[in-house]
Amino acid sequence: MSFQAPKGVSEYVPPRSALFEQALNAFAQSARRACYAPVETAVFEDTSLFVRGVGESSDVVRKEMYSFESRGGDKITLRPEFTAGVLRAVLQYNLHKGALPVKVFTSGPAFRYERPQAGRYRQFYQFDAEAIGTEDPLVDAETIAVAYDAYRSLRLERFTLLLNTLGDGNCRPVYRAALQDFLRKLDLDADTRARIEINPLRVLDDKRPEVRAQTAAAPYIVDYLCEGCKAHHDTVRELLTSLGIPFQDAPRLVRGLDYYMRTTYEFDHALLGAQSGIGGGGRYDGLSEDIGGPSLPGIGFAVGLDRIVLAIESERGATAKETAGCQVFGVPLGDGTQADVLSLITKLRRAGVRADMAFGSRGLKGAMKAADRSGARYAVLIGAAEKNAGTVRIKDLKDADQQDVPATAAADWLLSKLGETQ
Ligand code: AMP
Repeated sequence: MSFQAPKGVSEYVPPRSALFEQALNAFAQSARRACYAPVETAVFEDTSLFVRGVGESSDVVRKEMYSFESRGGDKITLRPEFTAGVLRAVLQYNLHKGALPVKVFTSGPAFRYERPQAGRYRQFYQFDAEAIGTEDPLVDAETIAVAYDAYRSLRLERFTLLLNTLGDGNCRPVYRAALQDFLRKLDLDADTRARIEINPLRVLDDKRPEVRAQTAAAPYIVDYLCEGCKAHHDTVRELLTSLGIPFQDAPRLVRGLDYYMRTTYEFDHALLGAQSGIGGGGRYDGLSEDIGGPSLPGIGFAVGLDRIVLAIESERGATAKETAGCQVFGVPLGDGTQADVLSLITKLRRAGVRADMAFGSRGLKGAMKAADRSGARYAVLIGAAEKNAGTVRIKDLKDADQQDVPATAAADWLLSKLGETQ
């Protein structure tokens, strides 16, 4: 094999790709049930959409972007995340001038130049949902419920919702200064000291034990919240409780991107080791102005579909076997029978059955092996004898029963049998 995918690119091929599809569908369906509308937006954007002025301090933006100059000299970046692009599209297409909030979802690849490891890739896949145009804490709870219900519909259990608030323009500066005072007195490396000046909240998120130990007594934002932020946070907590969504207060939780304020959250999976974040979100009330739009509060989340696939596998040892395989497999035996099998299979497909057939004039043995591999419950055989008699032979691959059924009645026969076994 001469070519390999570039390092760190996450890809899916059968059978595992079926789990990926399941994960994506679970989130899309959950968002649809909450009346979010689908959008598809640019995979590459003007670099300045992500790099907004000096002081931009997140690692994602400073170190991890795939940025390049296009042939025409434009500065382009492959999206490292969805929120900025989705908000850009909402503004560009004037969706915010209609009914608010604008509720949209999307999915696809995102790109970050990270050190590849299990659960961390350079091209990875996110599902993203955003509710733009309201400060109402109800919608904070709604976004969390949409994500939570999707994880649960995938039968995931071993995850925790971590909840925090980051305050707002009123209270965060006071807290930031208090935190900086505290951090400047610690014995930290040069990089971390620099971070104290740019984004001190990120220091709280540092996972290194020696940093953790020193920041154990750091002041927390919850003790500095202004009235408005405190009321907002309390309401979100109460709403989650009333929805039966368990959460843990996480006073150190800070998000990787800078534009978050008030509600922030993360979903953490217990079995995924170092890359345990399976999704996260929060409020970004200042982002619209930052990218040249009107004042437009918003909240949303993005989940890592790659890690959700890993979580499904680690929790239930699931393989793609349990996901939709074939239900019926057609076996033509001899010249002139292929078209009959294809017609029957096509009829079944049109009725919603997952059906396949043997191609390339295989012998009975090879075709039956293919039928077994397909996962189908029934094999449908048509040979010269059946063709002459106007019948098809239907083999139940589970209990090895077989019977001949008139060709004209075969599709209905199979449909009713499959209906019974569902
Ligand atoms: P973020 O935009 O950093 O908040 O990421 C949201 C979610 O995307 C995370 O919780 C992860 O599940 C996933 N994610 C972020 N970065 C990566 C990556 N490099 N590889 C795989 N998944 C990622």
